[in-house]
Amino acid sequence: MSMYANNSEWELKRLILDVGKRIWTRGYVAANDGNITIRIGDNEILTTPTGVSKGFMTPDMIIKMNMDGKVISQSPKFRPSSEVKMHIEVYRQREDIKAVVHAHPPYCTSFAVAGIPLNKCVLPEAILTLGAVPIAPYGTPSTMEIPDSIKPIIQNSDAVLLANHGALTLGTDLINAYHRMETLEHSAQIVFTAIQLGNVNMIPGEQVKKLMELREKMNIPGRVSVCGVEPKNIKESVTPDQIEVITQEVIAKIKDLQKK
Ligand SMILES: [Zn+2]
Repeated sequence: MSMYANNSEWELKRLILDVGKRIWTRGYVAANDGNITIRIGDNEILTTPTGVSKGFMTPDMIIKMNMDGKVISQSPKFRPSSEVKMHIEVYRQREDIKAVVHAHPPYCTSFAVAGIPLNKCVLPEAILTLGAVPIAPYGTPSTMEIPDSIKPIIQNSDAVLLANHGALTLGTDLINAYHRMETLEHSAQIVFTAIQLGNVNMIPGEQVKKLMELREKMNIPGRVSVCGVEPKNIKESVTPDQIEVITQEVIAKIKDLQKK
């Protein structure tokens, strides 16, 4: 049962408008970009419409639809975004998630364009609430490519960068999902600036372990991947041939050093 079962639909629509205003005001979206959903029941969600600035929505614009993507009620002027497929995939995969925010915040999206995941342990708050944030492979908007690309990642993460596109955050409620987007963009901005300053110091493994213990004690909802650890699939994707090449390079370097 949804944690939102006791809220009126009107209240939830107001909440979506508030978060829409916040993502637009903070510059997380341009023009009519971005979308916000809340799961209101086992088979029902509320979603923002397409073709509208998320900073200037009114309650009548919010659309109710089912998990098969069928619109239940709406004013005929507004349609759901094709990106809602990605939100529905999240709800299918994660029983615990009740809200999803998708935006294109400039710093997160820059990392997603550069192909650099935010997976280093640098800020305590980000380690606690986001963990390592991976990048989902690029998918064509409106197709099933994006839902398919996030599927394995959201099993272990409540925040995802979408390659050459933007970011997606998941929450046990809408404020929770929105706050993750704020923390994600804030971290991305700080990491970007630190890279420009020429040095990024990591929080040592022992300290990261303490933070993960703290996370458990604080009962922070959701799922995180521990930062600083390379995702398993990357290690597995290295072929024996590549390992041989790397090994030869390392041996050559050692020999070179011994000569000096
Ligand atoms: Zn988008």
